[in-house]
Amino acid sequence: MVITGVALLVVAIVVVALAPRGLTRWAWTIDRPRTALVAWSAAVVVGVLGFIGGITLVVLSGRPSDDPFGVADSPTHGVHLVVAVAAVVAFVIAVRVRPGAEHAAVREAIHSGVAPRRLVDGTIVAVVEADHALACAVPGRSGGVLLSTGLTARLDEDELDAVVAHESAHLRGRHASVVAVAESIERTVPWVPGARAMARSSRVLVEFAADDAAARRVGADALARAVRAADPDSALSAVRIARLQRR
Ligand SMILES: [Zn+2]
Repeated sequence: MVITGVALLVVAIVVVALAPRGLTRWAWTIDRPRTALVAWSAAVVVGVLGFIGGITLVVLSGRPSDDPFGVADSPTHGVHLVVAVAAVVAFVIAVRVRPGAEHAAVREAIHSGVAPRRLVDGTIVAVVEADHALACAVPGRSGGVLLSTGLTARLDEDELDAVVAHESAHLRGRHASVVAVAESIERTVPWVPGARAMARSSRVLVEFAADDAAARRVGADALARAVRAADPDSALSAVRIARLQRR
């Protein structure tokens, strides 16, 4: 039992130490963003379960199976057990995803009825008056896609379809939750190597994944033109356009 526990701990440490190196340095993640996102999730699951399972097996080794925590010997053992379970529950609560205030504001904008709306493949697309170029996806039953007139004025129809397809892909892929979980883990355990790398990497990978989904629906060319028109100066846009042109 001790050997299995130690082996689990070693596996967890190796995965938590090596996953961020591999997943931030390997160029394949740019071409296979969905695989990379799954690999990040797998690393988190293996890391967390490995640590909990490994420590449990080491602590319980040699204990009688009918009372492994020795609660019958001393009530303080029971208290320790409750504290340990409470610590795990506190961690889970700390990691839970909370929607931001800006999400409520965007939801309000989508449903206020002020913005002209249409339904595209079952998703509400609303357009608000604003000079700057804006496109965002708000998840949830009352969510949808919000665009600004500053963006719609700059884009041709096929480019606009590409932007809507990109934002809809964020909704279908539950990308907001993927990023929120990664950012929540970063806030909860910032000292774990790779927690920050995972949050940063996830934010970029979901953009690539949404681009791939949108390119399959409306074509990479229209999406590349839309990205260039909407956000011409950012480094991320340059990488996104280069990826789309390689397709
Ligand atoms: Zn996006």
